[in-house]
Amino acid sequence: MIPFLDLHKINKPYEKQFQRKLQDVMDSSWYILGSEVKIFETNFAKFCGTNHAIGVGNGLDALILIFKAYIQLGKLQKGDEVIVPANTYIASILAILQVDLVPVLVEPNIDTYNINPYLIQEKITPKTKIILAVHLYGQIAEMDQINQIASKNNLLVIEDAAQAHGAFLDNKRAGNLSNAAAFSFYPGKNLGALGDGGAVTTNDDKLAEIIKSLRNYGSKTKYYNDYVGINSRLDEIQAAFLNIKLKNLDSDNRQRNMFANYYLSNINNPKIILPKHQGNINHVFHLFVVRTENRLKLQDYLLKDDINSLIHYPIPPHRQKALSQFNHLSFPITEKIHEEVISLPMSPVLTVDQIKYVVKILNEF
Ligand SMILES: *Cc1c(COP(=O)(O)O)cnc(C)c1O
Repeated sequence: MIPFLDLHKINKPYEKQFQRKLQDVMDSSWYILGSEVKIFETNFAKFCGTNHAIGVGNGLDALILIFKAYIQLGKLQKGDEVIVPANTYIASILAILQVDLVPVLVEPNIDTYNINPYLIQEKITPKTKIILAVHLYGQIAEMDQINQIASKNNLLVIEDAAQAHGAFLDNKRAGNLSNAAAFSFYPGKNLGALGDGGAVTTNDDKLAEIIKSLRNYGSKTKYYNDYVGINSRLDEIQAAFLNIKLKNLDSDNRQRNMFANYYLSNINNPKIILPKHQGNINHVFHLFVVRTENRLKLQDYLLKDDINSLIHYPIPPHRQKALSQFNHLSFPITEKIHEEVISLPMSPVLTVDQIKYVVKILNEF
């Protein structure tokens, strides 16, 4: 059986190091906001090239904390509009709603699955304050155009970088291409913990300071509360594991790219539409997503040959029961994508033989 994502195989090589770190953290008897989180924040900021990284509870909270900090800074208020791709993972939109902002959905480019920058301008109103760009499936969104539109219209830009740890645009990494970025360390992400975790990256000193406080009850000094904060902290033990795994993130991403390039050059079945990408450093292939007209048939066919695939995502956010206020809207490109996508096995621990086998079976479909 070729698994879609073999988390056991991904984490197994770190087992001994993890066990030693577990012992260290046990012995330190300091489990929240201690030295491991500090070290991870330093290492992750350095990795991204930003002045700050702040460890938080998960990717959703990372987004929420950015919005809350901008509200605190007076740059945002309830009812302001946030431009966001219509085909993102629902967390991007939930974060906007959690802080009483208004998501304004924009269609993606069908070739890259990322927000179409040419459709942003027409959605901008006097209430628009932020563009939330998502680097979907691991590919950097068209940040040059997005940042240009933002500066012309005096908007903030936030990256949802939960799928793009380590991806580059020219010489800058995801997380360093906007005013602030949100990362997730959910186990299946390119940099994954053994539980939940997240981070905010930014070059804005003031924003970083407020987020550091907001994640910890709005408190900088114990029992002195400056803001109405939340409890969303990265665990010491998760930070310790992430410090170990961060060292291999670039080589893991290179491995993903190698497999992606093998798929791209060798899948030649006209029934399967391959993803477009702008070069190897621009995409870290969190997922390898193809399109086909009858994806359930393809999924069954693959399963008969012992290949697991998944669908990211079967239902677009505006069609979800939870988002009934958007159910009447129509986004034909988004809907087509959600009807046709299927994600092939992708991870740094696949073998060349497994990839070759997937290609062979796919080409016979
Ligand atoms: C995973 C993910 C999130 C949320 O991260 P969690 O850590 O699960 O809260 C947000 N946005 C995108 C695009 C994601 O893939």
